[in-house]
Amino acid sequence: MSGEALTQETILRDCPRMTPDDCFTFECNRSLDCFTRCCADVVIVLTPYDVLRLKKALGIDSSEFLDRYTLSPFTEEQKIPTVILRMHSETKKCPFVTDQGCSVYADRPWACRMYPLGVAEPKNPSPADHAFHFLVREDLCHGHGRGQSCGVRQWLADQGIDAYEMMGASFRDLMLHDFWDQGEALTPQKMDMYYMACFDLDRFRRFVFETRFLDLFQVDEARVEALRSDDEELLEFAMQWLRFSLFGEKTMKARPDVVRARRTEQPLSTAGGVS
Ligand code: SF4
Ligand code: SF4
Repeated sequence: MSGEALTQETILRDCPRMTPDDCFTFECNRSLDCFTRCCADVVIVLTPYDVLRLKKALGIDSSEFLDRYTLSPFTEEQKIPTVILRMHSETKKCPFVTDQGCSVYADRPWACRMYPLGVAEPKNPSPADHAFHFLVREDLCHGHGRGQSCGVRQWLADQGIDAYEMMGASFRDLMLHDFWDQGEALTPQKMDMYYMACFDLDRFRRFVFETRFLDLFQVDEARVEALRSDDEELLEFAMQWLRFSLFGEKTMKARPDVVRARRTEQPLSTAGGVS
């Protein structure tokens, strides 16, 4: 597929499906005339783990990262907030691209790692119709057909996709939850909870430690300690809390005294708001 905007529909219908053992030939390096051209005027949707890795790599707070480097466009049809990398307003370049290449290469987002592979999953996967990879061919990219042949599995391993898949699993489950098919819109307050828990992890940490949060929920002491400094642990916890708050699942346990007083308390899901 080339020169045509890919949609979920066209991918599922038209793209040749690749197995982990299928091979392709692709090379990306400074000698190509297209070097870094792909790092401009492009929509890069960030996952929560992308934000976590990038803000850590830059040594800044998640709130500062989101303010400085991202946009969160919102349309009426959208059910949940999304975060994209903010390209320079005039040059349209990614904030991290330099003449030497990507300045955050070791922590570059999932989408940048995956290229030229895409991944698609049918809405109702079955053994005969399951997730698959496919090749993305952009006209501006001259890396196709060059270099050595590489298998899909090997490419994903070389790009360090495993950690992103592992840390992205809970977020993926959250996004694919049946709740979103029911057509119910989130209130602005729940939208903000979602944004905070998924993307503004340092704000979520303040929410946990600087409000009544830990008075309301039973959280193992060792885990509480881990949540103070371990961003990966905090992100998993945030996903758990969102399932409780948005879907009413029993992923969090209220303290017994809170359960007793619950009828007169404000809802646990929104208690202790933080700015
Ligand atoms: S994060 Fe790096 S690889 Fe991705 S678009 Fe920006 S400069 Fe390019
Ligand atoms: S356009 Fe393709 S080959 Fe060129 S730098 Fe980007 S990914 Fe690499």
